[in-house]
Amino acid sequence: MTDKSISEVIKLREINTRIETNLSSTFKVIDRFGVILKGNHKELDHKLAELRKGIKKAEDSSELEPFITATNQSLKSFEVEFANSLRELKSDVLEIGESLQSTKGMDSTVRRNLRMILNKIKSTDSSIITEIQPNIANLMKLLVAVKFSDVANEDAPNDEPNNIAETFNSNMMQSLVSGLIKLSKSDVIKPSLDTFSDRIKIADSEDQKLDICLSFFEDVVGRFSEEFSQTQRLILNINKALADVHATLLDSLKSSKNYDKQLKSLNSQIDKQIKELSDSTNSATSLSDLQVVIDKKLSVINTSIRKRDDIEQERSDKLQSALNAMEAKLGGLEQRTDYYRNKWLEEKVRNGIDTLTSLPNRGAYDNRIQEEYQRWLRQPQPLSIAVIDIDHFKKINDNYGHSVGDKTLKIVANTLKKSLRKTDFLARYGGEEFVVIMVNSDPSKVAEPLENLRKAVEKIPFKVKDTPLNITISIGFTAFLAADNVHTAFDRADKALYEAKHTGRNRVCYKK
Ligand code: GH3
Ligand code: MG
Ligand code: MG
Repeated sequence: MTDKSISEVIKLREINTRIETNLSSTFKVIDRFGVILKGNHKELDHKLAELRKGIKKAEDSSELEPFITATNQSLKSFEVEFANSLRELKSDVLEIGESLQSTKGMDSTVRRNLRMILNKIKSTDSSIITEIQPNIANLMKLLVAVKFSDVANEDAPNDEPNNIAETFNSNMMQSLVSGLIKLSKSDVIKPSLDTFSDRIKIADSEDQKLDICLSFFEDVVGRFSEEFSQTQRLILNINKALADVHATLLDSLKSSKNYDKQLKSLNSQIDKQIKELSDSTNSATSLSDLQVVIDKKLSVINTSIRKRDDIEQERSDKLQSALNAMEAKLGGLEQRTDYYRNKWLEEKVRNGIDTLTSLPNRGAYDNRIQEEYQRWLRQPQPLSIAVIDIDHFKKINDNYGHSVGDKTLKIVANTLKKSLRKTDFLARYGGEEFVVIMVNSDPSKVAEPLENLRKAVEKIPFKVKDTPLNITISIGFTAFLAADNVHTAFDRADKALYEAKHTGRNRVCYKK
């Protein structure tokens, strides 16, 4: 092989390594897209999981082709289902609006506005969420306006408008509830529906129920629009990323095979020419004859070698340009995944969900305790709060690392959630602290379930690299007293927790 060919081969190997690195970065991006998209579509989850498993196992990127094709297909069906669900959203919203139109006693301006909004919704393109969303929001505002005009009517001296308002309220309630039940079939809505339905169950009046329903509706609209437009963008990006990877894979496989074939045939041609050269030198009878034969054969061999060099150069140039194109695409994709990942996390926090444990976060707790407190002021039935703190948690981080600490937090959170009643509200207050709101439970009846919580955590069979790890929690709790507000009650539960910590940990303490 000539020096030039050797250096070409080295260059080709380097380029191949860089392409492999690039592909693996692309796969990482797909992996992250997979995480973000998870939970939207069962089959797509499954296919992406298979693709991600394949990426880990495959020795040669060509083995991934069937996984990529399968993922592509399932992305396509997701796209179709997604479009259908947008259409359903539009028709559900129309149904809610139309059933409201049949309500008696509605103000004529409101009725006109309602008709206008419904007409607009009817004429929007149902495949574009951003077109539907502002109209849903307008419908929402209208519902709120109607609701407030009813409240104003309640103060009116005449009895009649009040009755109309009540009928309207109750009709509107029914429409809203039936509409929301339909919307709630979506996975996007389910988690918050549970919270809202708990709140509806404990609401004191129809009016309060209506308030909760309306705020849920607002929440639904917000989630749908945000989730839909983000998912829409995500699908497009993933589709594009997969198509790019697919194309690059096919292209490099095809051209490799093609070049290999050409090189093989040229190499055997060169071998043959060298053999012919040696045969002709044997048969030459004079020195001048020999000179002529050698010159002729050498020139043919030279031409073949130049051809081979050209082919290798071309292959190297092609791989280089594929590599540059992949690098450019990858840069953009990486930025986009980071953007979507951050958006997704922000969205969770905005929706009151702690991103690590998936429990309600501190903000959700603050809202909930305010509501429960207001309800308790109106109807004083026992209301308790418990503060839970993992014992010596810092040691877990220090001894086994932050990621073991995070996993421990998730497992403890799950255990707490599973061990509590449905009516108890559990939130991650911060760090390794949790808080539970328990309604309608006498303090004497709260101690036992809290003791069960403590035992449930103590029994978790934690293991780090086969070493059993004993995790315990300390709990302080209190019940709301007449002079309390949300802060004084929390501080008292915290004091009880302090006592639990200072009397040996792994225990439940109560403060009156
Ligand atoms: P005590 O029994 O007195 O509660 O001791 P402790 O070590 O649990 O309490 P301390 O307040 O000293 O330490 C709490 C630790 O929890 C410190 C912090 O690094 C860790 N932590 C807080 N939030 C997280 C988290 O999200 N992940 C991980 N891995 N650690 C966290
Ligand atoms: Mg703590
Ligand atoms: Mg602690």
